[in-house]
Amino acid sequence: MEVQIQTIGVVGAGSMGSGIANLAAMNGFTVILCDIEDSYLENAIKRIGNFMDKSVARGKMTENQKQETLGRIQTTTGLEDMKDADVVIEAVLEDLHLKKQVFSKLDQIVNEGVILATNTSSISITEIAAATQHPERVAGMHFFNPAQLMKLVEVVRGYQTSDETVEKLKALSKQLTKEPVEVKKDTPGFIVNRIMIPQFIEAIKLLEEGVASAEDIDKAVTLGLNYPMGPFTLQDFAGVDIGYHVMEYFKEEFNDDHFAPPLLLKQLVRAGRHGKKTGAGFYDYK
Ligand code: NAD
Repeated sequence: MEVQIQTIGVVGAGSMGSGIANLAAMNGFTVILCDIEDSYLENAIKRIGNFMDKSVARGKMTENQKQETLGRIQTTTGLEDMKDADVVIEAVLEDLHLKKQVFSKLDQIVNEGVILATNTSSISITEIAAATQHPERVAGMHFFNPAQLMKLVEVVRGYQTSDETVEKLKALSKQLTKEPVEVKKDTPGFIVNRIMIPQFIEAIKLLEEGVASAEDIDKAVTLGLNYPMGPFTLQDFAGVDIGYHVMEYFKEEFNDDHFAPPLLLKQLVRAGRHGKKTGAGFYDYK
């Protein structure tokens, strides 16, 4: 059954879910945003309002457009409200068990032909899809943070994802003003993180070996490769524990010690020096 997308369901109203909901509403879609507690939804709406306040201040949006955008977002703590969605994008915590539970329920709730997409950064799409009766309509739709601004979406094919699902998600990404790339195989880290994580590992090794300081490695990468941010600024910003867990996951999935987190990173994580979130990270290292 052909489904025209007018209403987008977003499950999980944290950093990514609220950004995706905001993006969808700004592009004229009706949004049903779901989380487990009203207070999380209230915070999400506040974050969305704050984001748009900046756009209003910069003259990129009028106060009226901001109010209209907010008016297109309905909030709920009941997953069953996803019955009215024409596509659902899941952005709950990065936990396989939780995602499988959510997908198994969504599969029962949504109408025939409604695509179920996950914004997971690392979990296997195939494994999430296997929790449903219709794995052909499940795919990855990986947005980047902040979803309102970052141009890329990785559309990821699970083992059983249909061509139709992939094409529809690519078209939807464009309607959301994004540039989609198709990830043809369900592989850890998809494209961007698969490239970024080995770069983090090499940067940490250079620091450990005393080849250069964190500041100079960042400077070399920003000026020499024209990246907007160096690997240490980026890791400290995101929280160094995130990279650590992704490296462990890659090592396990690829069965390759090449991806093992370097000792220095392990020690930062053990010491609770998690970068911006909890205090200094790599920039502390002498
Ligand atoms: P977050 O912790 O900010 O938000 C997750 C939200 O999910 C929370 O509000 C939580 O209450 C809610 N939630 C938990 N269980 C739920 C349930 N059963 N039903 C509905 N809501 C539920 O997390 P985030 O950073 O927004 O990440 C969400 C997903 O996006 C993860 O899979 C993550 O890997 C992925 N992702 C994150 C980033 C990033 O930079 N933060 C970038 C790309 C992808």
